[in-house]
Amino acid sequence: MKNYSFAILKKLTFILFLVTIISCSEQVTISKNAFVIKNISIIDPIDGFQSVKHVVVEHDLIAMILDKNYKFLANEDKIIDGSGKFLIPGLWDAHVHFSYDKNLTSSMPRLFLAHGITSVRDTGGPIDYVLKAKEFSLNEPLKSPNIFIAGPLIDGSPNVYNDSSPSFPLLSIENKDIIDIESNTLGLIDKEVDFLKAYEMLNENQFLTLTKIAQKRKLNVTGHIPLSMNLFSAVNSGLNGMEHLRNLELSIASNAEELYEERIQMLKNPNGLLGSTLRSSIHSKQRMSAIDSVDNNKFEEAANLLASKNVWQTPTLILYRSYAQKSHLNPSFLLELNKLPQQVKQKWSNEIAASDTIIDKSSVRYSNWIVDAVSKLHKNNVPFMAGTDTPIGYLIPGRSLHRELEILVESGLSNLEAIKTATVNPATFFGIENKVGRIKNGFMADLLILNSNPLNNISNTQNIHAVIKNGHFLSRKSLDSLLYNNHD
Ligand SMILES: [Zn+2]
Repeated sequence: MKNYSFAILKKLTFILFLVTIISCSEQVTISKNAFVIKNISIIDPIDGFQSVKHVVVEHDLIAMILDKNYKFLANEDKIIDGSGKFLIPGLWDAHVHFSYDKNLTSSMPRLFLAHGITSVRDTGGPIDYVLKAKEFSLNEPLKSPNIFIAGPLIDGSPNVYNDSSPSFPLLSIENKDIIDIESNTLGLIDKEVDFLKAYEMLNENQFLTLTKIAQKRKLNVTGHIPLSMNLFSAVNSGLNGMEHLRNLELSIASNAEELYEERIQMLKNPNGLLGSTLRSSIHSKQRMSAIDSVDNNKFEEAANLLASKNVWQTPTLILYRSYAQKSHLNPSFLLELNKLPQQVKQKWSNEIAASDTIIDKSSVRYSNWIVDAVSKLHKNNVPFMAGTDTPIGYLIPGRSLHRELEILVESGLSNLEAIKTATVNPATFFGIENKVGRIKNGFMADLLILNSNPLNNISNTQNIHAVIKNGHFLSRKSLDSLLYNNHD
């Protein structure tokens, strides 16, 4: 009898077990190397908004995205409550300089991560120095954003960033002729740079040699339009990206040909000026007058060319806004300085205290012009990336990217389009758009959990609840300790 009832019990248990399986067919067991973010709204840069999903992260990947009727078998510490929160991909700053201030370099990874920046593009620095930053990102992916490097600015002669003053540290490599360009560019490619950056003092032959090598080796070239060329010839010879919309105005002014002739004379540099001085003398002579005489038809023509050739624009609007508004004089900026290592904080504070407070009208005009130019190019379907030039212009690494997104929205991008410029667009520039920058199965688990919806207000990207880097969860508390850890 006892045995009999035991057998029934066994049978019953078996049936119950089956029922459990049948009724909970949508039950998922969370494995040891995984966790789930429950009940969160997803904002994918391409697919847009999807409400209340569960996102399973396993190792460093997004393993599953499930509907709300799924249940989870897991320890409590494997379940993150995402109710009322919003998941976006980790952000990119597509224009940074790790080597600009060497006292800041080692703090930049923590500042980027703490602000939700999980990937960056270093747009110019000595090759061995930026290689080290990249190696650190590969060896310590939980302590650093992913870093993509160009190596040094490939400049002509005299080069601009040649260590002539603290404002012009050695970020570039001087190339006197075509042979220099060939050997230096191939040398960088051998060191496995991710892209190349052309700079302003290159002559036309040097530039053509550079773009030819890059095309052969399948690397993108971004940069400043060389002063010896115009936008049309630079783009038609293979420029894939432009930083700061640099020298756009010189090519679309009604007197562009005259400006060009004048520039070619100045570039002969009869007085043997330093590269930085020569460049700024050309800019101060030509930039504002070019803006005053922009020819709308030429602008349209340039926009159409940039769109048809898919030339990526990284306008660094925040850099010009900061120069124009002298944002560093704002009392709230003093609080931001607490994020910096002591030595850098001291240096910036001293410089800011000694700096003049007069607002420069042409800086304001240029900053407004560049916002309008972005608006126009965007309407013409020219592709954009969000980048800042941090730490130049007292731009705090990480923080400045969120301000760039705000100004991109001010320039007419929708909130979702602005998010694209800092996620899927830079991933596309590097050809990794099937791995990084979206919220889809199998993509890198570099993610931000936000407390409020960035589609309602782009400033909500700053309201960060947590960051996930390579599948590793960083709570608000750990982000704060990264932000204000001034022991470095
Ligand atoms: Zn830069």
